[in-house]
Amino acid sequence: MNRKQLVKILRKNGYKATPQRLAIFELILSSKEHPTAEEIHNEVSKKFPSMSLSTVYQVLHLLQDLGQIMELKFRGQSSRFETNTTPHLNLICPGCGKIEDYNSNTIVKFWSKLENEFDFEALSQRIDGYRYCDVCKK
Ligand SMILES: [Zn+2]
Ligand SMILES: [Zn+2]
Repeated sequence: MNRKQLVKILRKNGYKATPQRLAIFELILSSKEHPTAEEIHNEVSKKFPSMSLSTVYQVLHLLQDLGQIMELKFRGQSSRFETNTTPHLNLICPGCGKIEDYNSNTIVKFWSKLENEFDFEALSQRIDGYRYCDVCKK
C-alpha cells in the first residue's frame, strides 16, 4: 500500500484525497510504533497546525471503514493504529506498551487454515503476544 493506491481507494469510495488524509495515512504507514491518535495528531499538526484531534479521529475512522488501517484497542489505554492488516503477530511489552510487528508465513498459513477449517472469511484479525522488551527486562 502506498499514497497512490490510497488516493485511488478514497476516490473510488467518493472521498476526496485531501493532503490531511494522506498525511495521516502516510504517518501510520511509515511508523513502526503503532501510534495513538494523540501521537498522530502531535506529528501531523506540525504540518497542519489547524488540524484538531477530532479531525484526526474522523480520518482514522474513515481509513478504518475503508479497511486501510486497523485499530488496536487496549483496556485503560489509548487505541493504537497500524496499516498492517495482514495476519501478523503483535509482540507487546506490558511494561512500556511498545508493540513490535512480526510478519511470518507461518501466521498467514495458519490463519487461512483456520478460515478453511471453520469456513469463514475474516473481516479482520488480531494476534497479540506479550513479553517484556529489552529495556523493561532490566
Ligand atoms: Zn518495554
Ligand atoms: Zn501490528
